[in-house]
Amino acid sequence: MRTLSDAHERDKARRISRMPAGPARLGALLRYTIKDAERLPLQIDGLPSEVQSAYQAFESAVETARDAITGHSDSTAAVNEAAEQDVKGFLASLRENKALPKLKRLGARAKVEESHVSLEACEKLLGVTHDELVDAMREVWADWRRDLLSQSEASREAAADAVGAADRAIKKASGEYQAILSLDHEIVGRCRDIGRQVEEEQRAGTPWYQLTHFPTEQPLRRLVIVDEKHGGTISLDMEAVLAALRAALEPQAFGASEWVPPDDAEHATLQASEWTSAPWLVKAMRRVIGPHCAICGNGRPAADFVAHEDGKAVLVHESCLHLSAAQQDKLERQRARAKMAQGARY
Ligand SMILES: [Zn+2]
Repeated sequence: MRTLSDAHERDKARRISRMPAGPARLGALLRYTIKDAERLPLQIDGLPSEVQSAYQAFESAVETARDAITGHSDSTAAVNEAAEQDVKGFLASLRENKALPKLKRLGARAKVEESHVSLEACEKLLGVTHDELVDAMREVWADWRRDLLSQSEASREAAADAVGAADRAIKKASGEYQAILSLDHEIVGRCRDIGRQVEEEQRAGTPWYQLTHFPTEQPLRRLVIVDEKHGGTISLDMEAVLAALRAALEPQAFGASEWVPPDDAEHATLQASEWTSAPWLVKAMRRVIGPHCAICGNGRPAADFVAHEDGKAVLVHESCLHLSAAQQDKLERQRARAKMAQGARY
C-alpha cells in the first residue's frame, strides 16, 4: 500500500499482514489505513474532483469493511443459534418418529464462509481504494498545489481585510467606551454643583461614582489570554495585539511557493535559474547548509547574504562581499591554511 515508506510504518504493515485472516486482521488494517488517510490533506474545501471521488470511494470501502466485520460476527452467532435449533428440531422429530428436518447449521455455516470471503475481499478493496486515492493526489499534485497557492493567498487577503475591519470596529467601540468615561469626568470636573453632588452621592452606603469609574475597567483596552501551560493569565494591550495580528497577515515569505514538483512544466526552467538573496533563504541556508561564510570561513556571526559563485549559491557575510578581490583571496588562503593545520592535528 502507498503508505509512508519509513521503517516504522513498514513494520506496522508487516505485523498486520502476518496476522491470521479474519475480522481482527481487517480491523487492524482498517485502523491502519484510516490513520494513514488522516495524514492526507483531505479536510480542506474544494478538493480536486478526481481526489474527491477517490476519497469517497475510500470512505465507502471503509464503511463496507466495517459492515463486513459486523456481518462476520452476526453470522458466527447465527451458526450457534442454528445448531441449537437443529437439536431441538431433531428432538421433536425423533419423539414423534417423523423424518428428520433439514439441518439449519449448514446454511448458517455457508454464510460464515461467505462472510470470511467478504473480509478478505474488503482488505483488498481497502488497499485498492487507498492506493487509488494516493494516485489521484499524485496525478493532480502539481496543479492542485498551484491552485492551493493562489487560494491561500486570496484567503490570507480576505483574513487581512476581515482583521482590518475588526480592527476598525474594535477601535470605534473602544473610543466610544473611552468617550463615556471622559464625558463623565469632564462634566463632573467642570460643573462644580454636579461635582459636589457626585462626591456626596452614595448608593447602598458606598461612593457609587468612584466605584463605577475605574479607568482600568474600560472595555476593549486589554486582552486576557489564559496561559494553559503555566497557569494564570497574560494581559496584553488590545492595540498591540491588533497591530501584531495585522502584521501577521501581511504577505509573508513561504519557501514552498518557490518550489514546484518534478513533473511541473516549469520545473526544469526553475531549477536552471539562479535565485536572489532573501531573508528567508538566508535563514534556510543557515539551517540546511550551515552558517559559515564562503569567503572568510567564519560562522560567527552567521553569514547573512546569498551570493553566486560560478553558478553555485553560497552563504557569505555581506561585509566580506564588499572586500576587494585581493582581500577576499587573502582571506580564502588563510582559511585554507587553517583547514590544513586543523587536518594535520588530527
Ligand atoms: Zn565572511
